[in-house]
Amino acid sequence: MGMNRDERDLRQAIVMACREMTAAGINQGTSGNISVRVDGGILLTPSGLPYDQMTPEDIVFMAWDGGWTAREGNVPSTEWRFHLDILKAKPETGAVVHAHPAYCTILAIMQKSIPAIHYMIAAGGGNDVPCAPYAQYGTAELSQLALEALADRRACLLAHHGLIATGVSLRKAMWLAIEVETLAKQYHGCLQIGTPPLLPDEEIDSILRRWGQYGLRDRKPLAAVPSSAA
Ligand code: 13P
Ligand code: ZN
Repeated sequence: MGMNRDERDLRQAIVMACREMTAAGINQGTSGNISVRVDGGILLTPSGLPYDQMTPEDIVFMAWDGGWTAREGNVPSTEWRFHLDILKAKPETGAVVHAHPAYCTILAIMQKSIPAIHYMIAAGGGNDVPCAPYAQYGTAELSQLALEALADRRACLLAHHGLIATGVSLRKAMWLAIEVETLAKQYHGCLQIGTPPLLPDEEIDSILRRWGQYGLRDRKPLAAVPSSAA
């Protein structure tokens, strides 16, 4: 498979991120999938392949028209539609992470959005992490509902299913996925005690104005040091 160094590095980064989802406790088994924007389309995890067996060559390239190339035996993730549609519709988005984290999924089963219980809700781009209505996995309908929920948000829950988190980069999308699972866990805990008080909309707006793209900062790749400077 002819690929340049940058593409190989991106494929490797996707494989590492998949394993990180398991290590961070936000996913299990072969559920979840990850995509990253590249020239002409997206790189996407294959369907149903255990993450500990996945190698960079297993990652699927999908063009914007849905045409794809994969190593023999591999097919694109069943959720290719929402990955492609989100990256198409949101030019500022560089990566999409989908997982079934336990607390996000508990709330999604209850068809509950995560309200403004904590200031970190603003990391998702607004005063809640909305829960998109249910549609069957892998369908165009699910993709449409996810796009609507993500209209002015960077993350959403999927009813009876799980979580989608997006970011300008794969690192940022992974960071947000873990933050939203933390918020879901906090909200679930609060609901055990009673009805949690919420931060007012003006407060979230003020935080959003102050932060801009608050959160994890992506380090620029280190500049190559000329060997003469060593
Ligand atoms: P894939 O293995 O096809 O990516 O599906 C996992 C999943 O989470 C479906 O929603
Ligand atoms: Zn899923």
